[in-house]
Amino acid sequence: MGIFKKPPLRGGKRNAGVPDDLWTKCQCGELIHTLDLKQHAYVCAHCNHHFLLPGRDRIELLTDAGSFEEMDHGLYSANPLGFANYERKTADLREKTGLNDAVISGRATIDSFPVTLAVMDFKYFAGSMGSVVGEKITRAIETATREKRAVIIVSASSGARMQEGMLSLMQMAKTCGALSRHQEAALPYISILTHPTTGGVTASFATIGDINLAEPGCMIGFAGPRVIKETTHQDLPKGFQTAEFMVEHGLVDAIVDRTKMRTKLAELLSYLMPQPSLSGQETLG
Ligand SMILES: [Zn+2]
Repeated sequence: MGIFKKPPLRGGKRNAGVPDDLWTKCQCGELIHTLDLKQHAYVCAHCNHHFLLPGRDRIELLTDAGSFEEMDHGLYSANPLGFANYERKTADLREKTGLNDAVISGRATIDSFPVTLAVMDFKYFAGSMGSVVGEKITRAIETATREKRAVIIVSASSGARMQEGMLSLMQMAKTCGALSRHQEAALPYISILTHPTTGGVTASFATIGDINLAEPGCMIGFAGPRVIKETTHQDLPKGFQTAEFMVEHGLVDAIVDRTKMRTKLAELLSYLMPQPSLSGQETLG
């Protein structure tokens, strides 16, 4: 009986006062201080591993300082199918992440080129695409078409949100339809795939950019590797579903480090867009 009364080997209050999120351990074994990680855009300085990047940090990293003007911030999901606990879960996530859904969208400039930008945030419901995500992305594209802006979409998603059933799947066609009209207006769309981009997002807007860029080492796929292996009964090739594999096989055009992404976008926009006028954006509707 004595054993059940033994005190634990380590006191529960040993690390009292030290916040849990002060240090992050990288896959290379390096222990990185959270402030360091933030200053380096959530990239490990030792092995170049790209951690998840919060959507708002991403926007700051990619756009001209102070140029971002958010759109449709107030949209959030209803529970159209009456899915059990869905409303409670989305309310919890809103409180925890400070986001109303898994994408932030708005107008901005990148090196003075006018764009609309939609950035997915994996921390909200694993970046899943429900009707709000699809609607915000579609509105961002339609605004870009109307105002002659380029579209930049940064994807990070587990795919369609099953709690919204068919309404989620509809967003695949809706976003692609808007991109098709954007293309007919001869305006560019650059897609940036980040870790992980999967499911209905990979199968719709994420992989149909005029140019598809990806961050190093990110996972890109439709179904997960285990599901594919069990379905096909075949061993998967080495590096399957990584950005590097996708470049070799033509789905992705280039891999770009996060810290160099803004420069790359500015370069591409300078090829694809008219030069912005010196006096700003007076030509925009
Ligand atoms: Zn590392």
